[in-house]
Amino acid sequence: MATSSFTKKTLGLETAEPAVTPPPAKGNTTFAKKPMLATAKSRKREIPEGLWTKCPKCSTMVFDKELDENLKVCTHCQHHFPISSRERVQSLIETGTFEETDAEMTSVDALNFTGVASYQSKLRAYQRETGLKDAVLTGSCKIGDHKVCLGVMDFKFLGGSMGSVVGEKLTRLIERATKKALPVIIISTSGGARMYEGMFSLMQMAKTCAALAYHAKARLPYISVLTHPTTAGVMASYASVGDLILAEPGAMIGFAGPRVIKDTTQAELPPGFQTAEFLLDHGLIDAIVTRKEMKPRLIDYLNYLTAGQKTADA
Ligand SMILES: [Zn+2]
Repeated sequence: MATSSFTKKTLGLETAEPAVTPPPAKGNTTFAKKPMLATAKSRKREIPEGLWTKCPKCSTMVFDKELDENLKVCTHCQHHFPISSRERVQSLIETGTFEETDAEMTSVDALNFTGVASYQSKLRAYQRETGLKDAVLTGSCKIGDHKVCLGVMDFKFLGGSMGSVVGEKLTRLIERATKKALPVIIISTSGGARMYEGMFSLMQMAKTCAALAYHAKARLPYISVLTHPTTAGVMASYASVGDLILAEPGAMIGFAGPRVIKDTTQAELPPGFQTAEFLLDHGLIDAIVTRKEMKPRLIDYLNYLTAGQKTADA
């Protein structure tokens, strides 16, 4: 009897144990459910991310398709979103006329640079991500009736930084234009010289400008288009020496960043400092042209600048 009551007790304990264990198990399931709810929520957030983009200027959710059709310009407030170099080329030229040059040129890690990641691994990662070999796309094409040499920078490739490849590709583009008596158009967007290449990147400033000097000597037009952002070494070289300097609305254009200037000069900066609008008022740039208007305006300017010459087409 005693044994049976003993076993009953143990049975009682055994039953108590599972009775105790289920609550944490239930608790676990509720905990398991919570993350599931959370993932469901994040999924809900992800869906609009793929279809809609929030405009940083007017906070409107813009339908991506609408944005693409409008050349990545907000349909509500005309904010100009970043655009890839290939999309830019497409938006400007006559279909099928772009002949890319030096497409395979890639940077050499001359300094054997290693920071958080090695320069080589960064280059490879950006090449995979953007499908570009470096931060500029160059080639000849037709814009309206004009054959031109066109260079378009891409901010997505290492912040559009100018290393030896960007400098060399642009220099070759300008030299080809000089040889063939063609106008040059360069659309810039850049954080400046590429520090991974040290002096080699800084040398590109002088090299591109020297090539442009020969181009100017041949009395050929060069139009520089500044897009958000165009700064530092690029702004201090080829981007600011155009016969005509155009800019997209709201683009940030400058050499050093506003914080550095403020700290150095110890003075308050005027409102709108380093914007395209501010620089238009102060005479650095000649016109602000919206992305949609850019192609017809370039054709107008080319008509005007090449009026005295024989037809650019040969
Ligand atoms: Zn907007």
